[in-house]
Amino acid sequence: MRVLKRMALLLGALLLLLIAIIVINTARLSPATLGAPLPAPAIDQAAVQRLAAAIRIPTISTEAGQPPSQVLDAFHAHLAASYPRVHAELRRELVAGHSLLFTWPGTDPNAPALLLAAHQDVVPIEGSSASKWTHPPFAGTVANGFVWGRGTIDDKMSLIAILEAVERMLARGMRPRQTVYLAFGHDEERGGNGARTISSLLKQRGAKVGLALDEGYAVLDNVLAGVNRPVAVVGMAEKGYVSVELTASGAGGHSSMPTPDNAAIKIARAVDRLAADPFPARLQGLTGDMLTSVAPYMDWPMRAAIANRWLTEGLITRQLTANPRTAAALRTTTAPTIIQSGTKDNVLPQSARAVVNHRILPGDTIANVVARDRDVIGDAGVSVRPVPGGHDPSRPARTDAPGFQAVAAAIRATYPHAPIAPGLVLGATDGRFYESLAASTLRFTPMTMRPADLARFHGNDERVSIEDYMRAIGFYERLIGGGR
Ligand SMILES: [Zn+2]
Repeated sequence: MRVLKRMALLLGALLLLLIAIIVINTARLSPATLGAPLPAPAIDQAAVQRLAAAIRIPTISTEAGQPPSQVLDAFHAHLAASYPRVHAELRRELVAGHSLLFTWPGTDPNAPALLLAAHQDVVPIEGSSASKWTHPPFAGTVANGFVWGRGTIDDKMSLIAILEAVERMLARGMRPRQTVYLAFGHDEERGGNGARTISSLLKQRGAKVGLALDEGYAVLDNVLAGVNRPVAVVGMAEKGYVSVELTASGAGGHSSMPTPDNAAIKIARAVDRLAADPFPARLQGLTGDMLTSVAPYMDWPMRAAIANRWLTEGLITRQLTANPRTAAALRTTTAPTIIQSGTKDNVLPQSARAVVNHRILPGDTIANVVARDRDVIGDAGVSVRPVPGGHDPSRPARTDAPGFQAVAAAIRATYPHAPIAPGLVLGATDGRFYESLAASTLRFTPMTMRPADLARFHGNDERVSIEDYMRAIGFYERLIGGGR
């Protein structure tokens, strides 16, 4: 009896200790002091019209090529007519054909420069989907408090808001302390040669860039499950990209006497093995950091689970990997996209080919992804090689660097009610070309994204609220002016 009692006491004490650890860890994730949302900003109707007019110029990049020269020329003419001070007082250069680089020299030559990036091109309208739009995609309609059209989210609102901010500052006779570069690529949607060229040009000139800010995340409202307020998510890195080509050959012959030496079978087996064996999910890194940052704004069971990852890591990882959208934030993804083999139904194929697209998590590299694919396939008869043109993932930016602090200050001044969280951008942006140039490369578009907006991005009914656009102009003014 006495032993049992002692056991019960010991178990009770352990349980209390466990509860204490969970409670203390949970309490340590306390919310930051946040402000009230700012009142709706005054609306500048002329600025709204300048954005609408930019939407009406169809700067469409397709698989076949960049936007036509005369369309880009018309876009440039619209910018020149709309922002006379920018064009008179900043140095303007055409780079790689139609990319634009503006240079606004700062008063302090030693201050690291600020580079604001945005892209001029937009994605096409798919097939007959134009008829599904509430307002035609290139009409630049202003209605119900929104500017509608292709490019309003991705990425002309940013481009135009940056120019509005600089034009306003020039009108007030302001000059920034640090040099400001405006870097507007013309072909982001098909590889970003413009941004790559701007980056190497600035490197050649020995430019010292402290912060490069490009598109990426935004203020996410009701997008992060369980988080009870809008969160300003700042992309600290983007995933890498590689397509892997698998090829196999076989003896061929008549299909009436099939042999196992069939190229199609080898490739099908290889693809199946890759699909069945995904890369391990990792909760450490940027996605884990994002969870820690938003946990104080979640209900207590979720908060306690995130605060006590030593206990719940497996559970959280299983939950997040069950959903393809969140799974992509935790692992290097594997997506077979092309399989080709055979020319006739009664001929055994002598060759077969597949392409598997991977989006690479920071921590992995093209080299180790290809090596793992080879391992998982485990068939010397299948050759595995990376398709040229891929890129390794970013080295994540740091939250304690001045670049992040500057963006965070501008976010707090613009969206005082929104906590700030770091995040990993899953797609590719022009931002990656500035990583070797800038001390910090961050990815944040000053606009609010609600769940329905996620489908508008590269989809139908793309639009931006006029209120968001007005706030974005203020955001860029604060970022350039350093809060002054
Ligand atoms: Zn974009």
